[in-house]
Amino acid sequence: MSGEEEAASAQEQRDLASAAEAGIHRLAIPTPFMVGRVNAYLIEDSPLTLIDSGPNSGKALDELEQALAAHGHSVEDLELLVVSHQHMDHFGLASILARRSGAEVAAIDRLAPFLAAYGRETDLDDRFAEDLMLRHGIPPEIVTALRAVSAGFRAWGSAVEVTRPLADGSELQLRDRTLRVLHRPGHSPSDTVFVEERRGIMLAADHLIAHISSNPLLARPLGAGEDYAGPRPQALVTYIDSLEKTRAMDLALVLPGHGRPITDHASLIDERFRLHARRAEKINRLIASQPRTAHEIAQELWGNVAVTQAYLTLSEVLGHVDLLLRDGQVVEHEEDGVVHFEAV
Ligand SMILES: [Zn+2]
Repeated sequence: MSGEEEAASAQEQRDLASAAEAGIHRLAIPTPFMVGRVNAYLIEDSPLTLIDSGPNSGKALDELEQALAAHGHSVEDLELLVVSHQHMDHFGLASILARRSGAEVAAIDRLAPFLAAYGRETDLDDRFAEDLMLRHGIPPEIVTALRAVSAGFRAWGSAVEVTRPLADGSELQLRDRTLRVLHRPGHSPSDTVFVEERRGIMLAADHLIAHISSNPLLARPLGAGEDYAGPRPQALVTYIDSLEKTRAMDLALVLPGHGRPITDHASLIDERFRLHARRAEKINRLIASQPRTAHEIAQELWGNVAVTQAYLTLSEVLGHVDLLLRDGQVVEHEEDGVVHFEAV
């Protein structure tokens, strides 16, 4: 470890210790995904609460059980499971945990139908993604290959019934604390953060992550049924709006869904804003030099990664193009069902 890494790791231990003093323990659960471990948070309060759970796998369950045991608890002790958003690395184990413990399951109200019909909803998500990829210039054979990848990941999630739907802005009352429930969409349509206002602690899931810029993934709007034909969701525009709300808050500690705690949320968010502005400007220059599809822009920026991670990079490009469209710097025109962007 370099001196800098050692200092960072010491800081992380101090921040985790101060969360633990508030009765909040990070349990880092393994996932099969590129992102690495996912953070679940055990809140030792009444009810005994777990924020997120990890993916639906034997390995994740095994490690979760060990982590709970290290704090003197078992799965059967859990009384409230909270789901932060619709990604399977965060909620996949919830149905097994709920069945074994009899715990209540809480999530933002608009996410409940998605979690209850997880299989059908992800089918619809995949179809939405396929249409979007074809429309933005990704070759059909890549789209087909990605469909197989997505189907292979399906089992890491599992349908779960939400027994306690939460309204945006409402309070989740535990014996020793109150958590404010805030909808902060952008990374996904259902991102929800939980804020203990008295201590200035935010449980942020993937809304804000220290070591990676949280990708605003293009997703079908919640509640959109089959053959969604509405406007393309503006994930990055939505995300920036959510980040501005969080930036304005007085927070001592942000506990994210991956990686280390964050104690400097405002400067981290400013850094993200600068990154988005720089990337939009870069994409603007590419479009100014010649009209391009979003996939062509992604290839210019990331080469082969635009193929292996086609949907992720497409989301990234379209998010920034949305900023340029909003500011009137580019326009889109459609040719044989494929969208090209050009300078105004
Ligand atoms: Zn996520």
